[in-house]
Amino acid sequence: MELKYEKYPFTPILGWSISRFEEFDKCKRRYFYSYYPKFVPDIPSYKVQQLKGLTTVALETGNVIHDILEAFLRRMQKSKSDIDEQRFFSYARALVDRYFSEKTFLEVYYKYTDSIEKNAVYSKVQTCLENFLGSPCYSWIYMSALRNRENWMIEPQGYGETRLNGLKAYCKMDFLIPVENNVYILDWKTGQKDPFKHRSQLLGYAAAAHHNFNIPWNTIFPKIIYLSPKYDEFEIEIKENDLKSFFDTIKAQTEQMQQFCSSVEENRPHPIDSFPKTPSPGMCRQCKYQELCFPQGITATSENEHASVSVDW
Ligand code: SF4
Repeated sequence: MELKYEKYPFTPILGWSISRFEEFDKCKRRYFYSYYPKFVPDIPSYKVQQLKGLTTVALETGNVIHDILEAFLRRMQKSKSDIDEQRFFSYARALVDRYFSEKTFLEVYYKYTDSIEKNAVYSKVQTCLENFLGSPCYSWIYMSALRNRENWMIEPQGYGETRLNGLKAYCKMDFLIPVENNVYILDWKTGQKDPFKHRSQLLGYAAAAHHNFNIPWNTIFPKIIYLSPKYDEFEIEIKENDLKSFFDTIKAQTEQMQQFCSSVEENRPHPIDSFPKTPSPGMCRQCKYQELCFPQGITATSENEHASVSVDW
């Protein structure tokens, strides 16, 4: 079975993704800053872009793991020989050094810490990789999936654009492996298990694989692989009814987001004042854009004021 990604002509209309709706759901103002930066008034665009580019330790740790496993699987495609573990872990450390030197971290930018403790990050990365190398998933890839390695899709290029029941959507998969007549989709996670959210994510992958590659539903097996704090897996069984309610949810969520557009076709937003700040200001400390909402910095008073204002929204 050979898998090829379908290409879609560009349209400006907004596309659903799990992360887009999550941002929209948490804080409309943050959603505006993230998805409509060029419409932010009175703030220089370089400033919005600078804040948009901030990363966090958790996010970057996940990026490092994704990139190391991508390189690892590509190497497996070329050679079945055992890896040199010492060199593998040196490569991981070099990647941590590079990623954590090049980027600007929210924790440093907002002065929660003076600098990022790279040894602690590397220790977590090392644990994730050790968990992977000792996992049933790795054994299964080596024993069963390797036979069809020329058809693996590893971190496919692009944003994972697809159509879910006719709606534009983005579902970017990490690793897609055909084995005999089945297709297995694996997604790596370095954070906490979240069955509700991750179930939707897996349904999205399955729907995208079905639509893009015309794979029958009953041959698609999506699975999340948790690599930290300990190894775990989460897989779902796909039933016809689940899909119908999943498509209904996506349609409803897309329509909710579109209600904040003055032009749905052009994906042009209403003015920023139509995008209220979160009624849960506790999350603002982890938000990249807090400088725009709290130019004086977040204080207990500003959080209370924010909360009392937000009651009316
Ligand atoms: S600082 Fe708070 S209110 Fe402002 S965008 Fe971020 S999460 Fe929303």
